[in-house]
Amino acid sequence: MAAEAADFRADILAIAAHRDDVEQTCGGTLLRSAARGLRTAILDLTQGEAGTRGTADDRAREAEEAARILGVGWRQALQLPDGAIENTLPNRIEIVRVLRQLRPRVVILPYWQARHPDHAIVGTLGYDACFLAGLRKIDTGDEPYRPFKIVYASLYADIRPSFIVDISPFIEQRHQALMAYQSQYANQQAGSALFVPEEEIRERTFAEARHYGLLAGVRYGEPFVQKEVGLIDDLTLVPVQSI
Ligand SMILES: [Zn+2]
Repeated sequence: MAAEAADFRADILAIAAHRDDVEQTCGGTLLRSAARGLRTAILDLTQGEAGTRGTADDRAREAEEAARILGVGWRQALQLPDGAIENTLPNRIEIVRVLRQLRPRVVILPYWQARHPDHAIVGTLGYDACFLAGLRKIDTGDEPYRPFKIVYASLYADIRPSFIVDISPFIEQRHQALMAYQSQYANQQAGSALFVPEEEIRERTFAEARHYGLLAGVRYGEPFVQKEVGLIDDLTLVPVQSI
């Protein structure tokens, strides 16, 4: 797959615990970025073997199809244990290798507080890896590289976002990318007490996107948190909606 070419460089890299996380939390942002000509990439940290539905192989095929729909240029999955991701040095180093290969300017991580322990830990594991990637003494055989910016996809967190990305033109395509995970979301018997029906997934995800869009005065949006204070040169160019 050309998407795994060793010389691929990313402008934006989204790191997530599970295949299908990115589709739900920042898929519209990746679509919008690709439409602007930016090179986007996804690193999933697990293979999805702990899922109630489908196998890791099913998810690998579905993730590739979702990547095609999202227009990302590179997608791979590490083999950290699904449901038991830990912030250890070996795990940080695995991510450091990817960061030094792709050299993304911006990294998207899951918000650091979450109901699913994997999501929360990836917020801190990813941050630590971004920092270590810039240290020459962490020797992986690649040139050190530290991303310029980390932002946190906060869709699942009950928290006021720092900013919204307008995904209005891309909401249908984002939904298609999520529905590429047929083993997870198509109506079926396995896990039917745990999963909501396919029709309701559409209603719920569109409602969430509508909620965040409304906060910024657009139709559909995805929320992000940034830790750092913003730096502005010209107050007349601050990118917010009018009061
Ligand atoms: Zn997940």
